[in-house]
Amino acid sequence: MTGIQNITVLGSTGTIGVHTLDVIARHPDRFRAFALTANARIEPLLDQCRQFQPNYAVVLDADAAEVLRQQLRALGLLTEVLCGPAALEQVAAAPEVDAVMAAIVGAAGLKPALAAARAGKRVLLANKETLVMSGGLFMEAVRAGGATLLPIDSEHNAIFQVLPTRFNQGLAHVGVSRILLTASGGPFRQATPDALAAVTPQQALNHPNWVMGPKISIDSATLMNKGLEVIEAYWLFGASPDQIEVVIHPQSVIHSMVEYVDGSVLAQLGNPDMRTPIAYALSYPERISSGVGPLDLFKIARLDFEAPDTTRFPCLALAFDALHRGGTAPAVLNAANEVAVAAFLQGKLRFNDIPRMVEATLERVSLVEATVLSDVIEADESARMIALDWLATRA
Ligand code: NDP
Ligand code: MG
Repeated sequence: MTGIQNITVLGSTGTIGVHTLDVIARHPDRFRAFALTANARIEPLLDQCRQFQPNYAVVLDADAAEVLRQQLRALGLLTEVLCGPAALEQVAAAPEVDAVMAAIVGAAGLKPALAAARAGKRVLLANKETLVMSGGLFMEAVRAGGATLLPIDSEHNAIFQVLPTRFNQGLAHVGVSRILLTASGGPFRQATPDALAAVTPQQALNHPNWVMGPKISIDSATLMNKGLEVIEAYWLFGASPDQIEVVIHPQSVIHSMVEYVDGSVLAQLGNPDMRTPIAYALSYPERISSGVGPLDLFKIARLDFEAPDTTRFPCLALAFDALHRGGTAPAVLNAANEVAVAAFLQGKLRFNDIPRMVEATLERVSLVEATVLSDVIEADESARMIALDWLATRA
């Protein structure tokens, strides 16, 4: 690729967004921030605009947009401020844009990621909820738009790195037998069921190996994150559910593995720092420095593996079940989980009630085929209502 690439960073004020801008700042000869977006936190967005001087800054809220506009004007900056969900799609699909980092959290990230795919961009996909909710429709948009899809999730980025480039001809065709998806096991890997019932949001937000936004931190603690990643791997790599094995690996040094029919297992290793997968996706098929230090194997000394315990962590089994059911089941799982995580963070739901709420919602929503986007949006909306209803009747 020649020339400087224009990058839109959706969710630039989040953990992935900040890491992305860190890598971009290391390579001003290769990348420039074209548009930066946030939900409502304009303070960090203003700082980013000052440093990167993007063409556009997008926030959801109109009042926040006006405040940001005035602040930028006072600083003499030319960044134009847009607001609302349609503006997210606009900056994802703008003709000047080469690559889009899709790093909004949750279902809100779906439509802008789809817009980038339809417009044929290089889509750097961190927002796994897009694939969980509407994997079939999203992969179709990637094909129809001629987009290049590069996974950011560290496990999927690792798998992408150790798969042959022709993997989309079918895993059997390239001699792959299984995908081994590693998981740290989260902060409560060894907790007893009683201890799990008493977990506080503060404890759950404290991940042993990774620094992440609040939603994915809770998902990592319940193992729902790994469940969402199983569904993500299914769509990204065309793996059947039976071909995906979750392996608990507490050190988070091996980011995932691919097993081949000849008995070879290829792994990607590195320090747990999202700048590695981000740099890989930004520069693919080349390699650039990311700011991540070399792996010190002597310091790590050992690598452990164990099987996941779906009795203590039922979210993983619920995700496999939703994948088997297909249609809108994964979208319902995702929506119920978002409601459950928000309720847990607000102190309205116990940690071990998160899977109960998800399961109850999956039992109550009627599932349909996910043929068009409105099927997915309707499933998402009714799952949220039913999950909230379940919460209200328990209170
Ligand atoms: P954060 O919570 O740190 O950041 C979320 C970003 O999305 C912020 O910029 C936030 O803006 C913005 N945002 C939140 N809600 C909305 C909304 N309704 N509309 C538009 N923008 C919104 O999340 P992470 O960076 O941790 O995660 C982002 C995505 O990447 C998630 O899908 C996650 O699963 C995935 N991911 C993250 C990893 C990590 O290490 N963090 C690893 C692998 C995947 P504001 O700041 O204004 O709230
Ligand atoms: Mg991950």
